[in-house]
Amino acid sequence: MNNSTFQFSVPENSPALSYASGSLEREQLKSELKRQEEEQTEIPLIIGGREIRTGRFAEVVMPCDHSRILARCHLAGEKEAEMAIEAALRAKAEWSALSWVERASIQLKAAELVSTRYRPVINAATMLGQAKNVFQAEIDAACETIDYLRYNAYFASQIYAVQPRSLMDQLNRVEYRPLEGFVFTVSPFNFTAIASNLNMSVALMGNTTVWKPSTTALLSNYHLMRIFMEAGLPPGVVNFIPGRGAELSGRVLSHRELAGIHFTGSNSTFHQLWRGVAGRVADYRSYPRLVGETGGKDFIFAHASAEAEAVATAIVRGSFEYQGQKCSAPSRAYIPRSLWPRIREIIIEMLKRVRVGDVRDFGNFMNAVIDEKAFDRIMGYINAARSSPDVEIVFGGGGDKSTGYFIQPTVLRVSDPKYATMQEEIFGPVMSLFVYEDSMFEETLRLCDDTSPYALTGAVFIRDRYAFIKACQILRYAAGNFYINDKPTGAMVGLQPFGGARASGTNDKAGGPLNLQRWINPRTIKETFIPPTSFEYPFMAET
Ligand code: NAD
Repeated sequence: MNNSTFQFSVPENSPALSYASGSLEREQLKSELKRQEEEQTEIPLIIGGREIRTGRFAEVVMPCDHSRILARCHLAGEKEAEMAIEAALRAKAEWSALSWVERASIQLKAAELVSTRYRPVINAATMLGQAKNVFQAEIDAACETIDYLRYNAYFASQIYAVQPRSLMDQLNRVEYRPLEGFVFTVSPFNFTAIASNLNMSVALMGNTTVWKPSTTALLSNYHLMRIFMEAGLPPGVVNFIPGRGAELSGRVLSHRELAGIHFTGSNSTFHQLWRGVAGRVADYRSYPRLVGETGGKDFIFAHASAEAEAVATAIVRGSFEYQGQKCSAPSRAYIPRSLWPRIREIIIEMLKRVRVGDVRDFGNFMNAVIDEKAFDRIMGYINAARSSPDVEIVFGGGGDKSTGYFIQPTVLRVSDPKYATMQEEIFGPVMSLFVYEDSMFEETLRLCDDTSPYALTGAVFIRDRYAFIKACQILRYAAGNFYINDKPTGAMVGLQPFGGARASGTNDKAGGPLNLQRWINPRTIKETFIPPTSFEYPFMAET
């Protein structure tokens, strides 16, 4: 056994490739897109390292062209959920006994595979299956996945190095055990990197997982699973079981060995999972760790001292990149009356140049929303706004689902700052704006803080330092990731650890050491060199 104490150094964030016309990466990606759209992949379950075919299928279609079937995926049921739990528990003993440096090495190899050989594969799968344009796929499926894997190895090395003080007569140690049992990981559709991290962060700390991927991100998630295995992840450490969430979680949550849930997705799903655990709390071996990153109603707040061009650009990029389907995407804004005419003019001028269409046409800034259910939900908000006397449609409002699920970037101006689209998460390309009187700055900051139950991301645009301090104070709990003069999307692993509180989740900060600490169960060991041999203390003697 190698007995060295190992420290991984701080990694550099993976730079995004440009995919400029004529570049090698563009050429490779285009041919991979063609290959994947022509080949109908068959996606099996992967349990204990074995491919399992159930014969019950879901079709994976392109959101930009929903008549195109990209893959057919076998679906797990209760029996396969049980098999996955058993495989995770079987793999646990050997995996958790392995030196953490060996586990980190597998993660670093996975990062290298994504960075090189599989970069076009994972990007093409994310573009076709989740409707991300090339840039959005590159910063998620390639860069962020790589960054999570590399940074986590570094953060783990820091966690394992922390030891308590010892005294002359004793030696104290902390052993960073993994949790007892298995961890249930449930991933969302909107970030390939999150699906990777939900599993690999947990596995790095010596745990094994039962992974339910999102049914609208199956192609990229299947490729991730294959990359993990090629990197050397032993059978059973991560078990891939696509299927119906409610059916699978019924089986998983009732297992006594459930050690934790690592979840990212909507509030309603997290509530179901939490309730499922709460109702059985006395039946588990340990209290399951519940880590959930959920919804957002992220804001942009402009002060009268802000630069109009910067505010408008942040609105256009932040609200409409990836069709507003980032948990961090701003979907409400507060604009001072003095700046509104200029900001309105710039937003309209920019949005007129935004093209919405298929990911295979690289000229498109926006693409389709994820599926028909999302399309109908988003259009429902837009149509209600159209008939409301409280709302003016400043831009957009159209949608067409005949070929793909396309919705125009839509800007609403509301007269009621508590109108539904200012409070509820829509998760689509809809930005609602409230224009406030310049003199009502502090009152409007309070309104911003009070309006929504969420507290994920928020941005203030401001050049006046005194006003800035006021905004920081009043909005202290309004966002877990708070931006000054920048859009509130695009957090980078290691630089801006990510997560929010209130209804936005447990704020365990993915992409930082706090998250890794949720997956360990430390044991303190005190060794006494010369143990006492009499029970009496000096104070007990009478003379
Ligand atoms: P979702 O809740 O619909 O689905 C998430 C996952 O849960 C999917 O795998 C789904 O199949 C599964 N699921 C659904 N019902 C289940 C059940 N009863 N038991 C077990 N699993 C179940 O969310 P989504 O549409 O994939 O993602 C969008 C949401 O995720 C938005 O609300 C967004 O804000 C949030 N999100 C948050 C963050 C963050 O860091 N805070 C990041 C990304 C996405």
